Amino acid sequence: MTDQMITDSSPNTAPPDSSEPDYEVVVIGAGVGGIYQIKRLIDLGVNATVLEGDEDLGGTWYRNRYPGARFDSESFTYGYSWDREVLEEWHWKEMFSPQPETLKYLNYVADKFGLRDHMQFNCYVEKMVFDEPSCNWTLLLKDGREITSRFVLTAIGLLSVPTLPRIKGIDDFEGASFHTFDWPLEPIDLEGKRVAVIGTGATAIQLIPEVAKEAETLTVFQRRANWAAPLNNREISEEEMADIRKRYDEIFETCARTPGGFEHAPDRRGFYNVSAEERRELWDRLYDGPGFGIWLQNFVEIFMDEDANAEFSEYIAERIRQRVDDPDLAEKLIPKDHGFGIQRVPLETDYFEAYNRDNVHFVDSSETPIQNITKTGVQTSDEHYEFDVIVYATGFDAFTGAFDRMDVRGVNGLSLKEKWSQGPVTYLGLFVHGFPNLMMISGPQTAATNFPRGAELAVNWATGLLEHLWASDKRRFETSLAAEQGWFDHVVKMYEPFLLRKAQSWITGYNSNLDGHEYGKTRYNIYNGGGPKYAGRLQQVAQDGYEGIAIE
Ligand code: NAP
Repeated sequence: MTDQMITDSSPNTAPPDSSEPDYEVVVIGAGVGGIYQIKRLIDLGVNATVLEGDEDLGGTWYRNRYPGARFDSESFTYGYSWDREVLEEWHWKEMFSPQPETLKYLNYVADKFGLRDHMQFNCYVEKMVFDEPSCNWTLLLKDGREITSRFVLTAIGLLSVPTLPRIKGIDDFEGASFHTFDWPLEPIDLEGKRVAVIGTGATAIQLIPEVAKEAETLTVFQRRANWAAPLNNREISEEEMADIRKRYDEIFETCARTPGGFEHAPDRRGFYNVSAEERRELWDRLYDGPGFGIWLQNFVEIFMDEDANAEFSEYIAERIRQRVDDPDLAEKLIPKDHGFGIQRVPLETDYFEAYNRDNVHFVDSSETPIQNITKTGVQTSDEHYEFDVIVYATGFDAFTGAFDRMDVRGVNGLSLKEKWSQGPVTYLGLFVHGFPNLMMISGPQTAATNFPRGAELAVNWATGLLEHLWASDKRRFETSLAAEQGWFDHVVKMYEPFLLRKAQSWITGYNSNLDGHEYGKTRYNIYNGGGPKYAGRLQQVAQDGYEGIAIE
């Protein structure tokens, strides 16, 4: 147990009334999860709709249009697995698909199955309230409409609420400025522009090399360095794609077996069972190999043992030193406050080389903090910098932000935001006690995996539960307080063996721009047990008659 206690909601035993809702199921969000969820429901002939706040589908791939935005999952492990024709027809052009191509893919899937007909755009849900007598949710939309639904499935993303930095004067700037998530739909021409990027997380690390190529000057404001390793992207030929198509069954089976939902599986020889030379041999291979291999094909001890982690971090530091011309700058780009892989690892293409360009400047915001934004640029403690464009790559109100801003009210008006004020508490990452008839697709405290692999699992499982209710003529489900507490305790326990429990990142709820998200106030945002264990638990719960869930 932690000091985070879960509050009970008194069950309401009022007799059900007969008012029929507008929909049997409302899905919120038309991203990767929402697209598949509506497909499953439509196939079952259910009266369902998707409400999407944006003007079109795609979720994260609709919004993140900054140059350099792309998968760091191998494309063919990220695509949907559930339709043979889609697998046969789609050609992934690159190992790690760029944002425009990914958005095209999601549109192709939605159009192929006529899913747009079941989606409503510009439908931002401001509030949703559970009504006990009818067992329905009422959703209040920004445009003033009210929609009722028996069940609500949220597919609202985990990184969908951007946070701007709390720096004075942001609104004073007279040039163009925006968060990376709000990159203009009409691509902005950076040629001849003096550009600032604030932040050096995974987003900035993708963005910086691209902006460096285009802008007259690029100035990067780094407060904390972040470990990063090469993506090693490349094109996929027709022949290779034909081979991938033949391997799809095997690929998805492997993804289902590995903790992270990738083809990359950890090296289980044992860090200390092999010589330093053998370790180095593996690391050389992984550093030159594609994607998350460097993180997920590594020795498992890297994630748990300080010494193993330190040795590997020094290996990566050495690789960084080899890539950055200025040795002093190289040291500033090497994190000293945490080891490699403790925070989510950004993958990069020529990130470190970007700093070797004459038009790229580096400001260490830990030494000379940003004091304010002015009409014409950025004022630090020792200098004023003039810019035409300021880009904020400053991260997200992860996991709970998208729920908090909706004002979700459960039994007896219970506020989800209040319930989660110290961090999320869920049962299986899908349910919250006090919020009946609500399930979260890819919500907090589900296994942290290759996103679509986890989303498909959740969609299939949630759909199975709904089919169970319909088959038995039931209309209400709610997780018990005991089940929720049990899962929460398990989630907390699964942070303990891993060094990531110390991460100063969104995985532990850190965000310097949000009250209550200070470093040290840990929020247990993800389930660290890995995909297979999580999937096994879901299967067991269903087999045991949906243990922990009251169905009426
Ligand atoms: P992030 O990892 O939270 O990084 C935010 C950055 O902004 C940090 O460097 C932070 O510095 C800095 N920052 C925030 N406020 C600041 C301030 N007031 N002054 C100076 N610096 C400030 O956010 P992100 O880069 O957007 O990445 C978030 C997650 O999105 C990733 O971890 C990843 O899971 C996902 N992502 C995925 C992909 C992909 O799949 N290909 C690509 C990009 C992102 P401090 O550390 O000092 O606070």
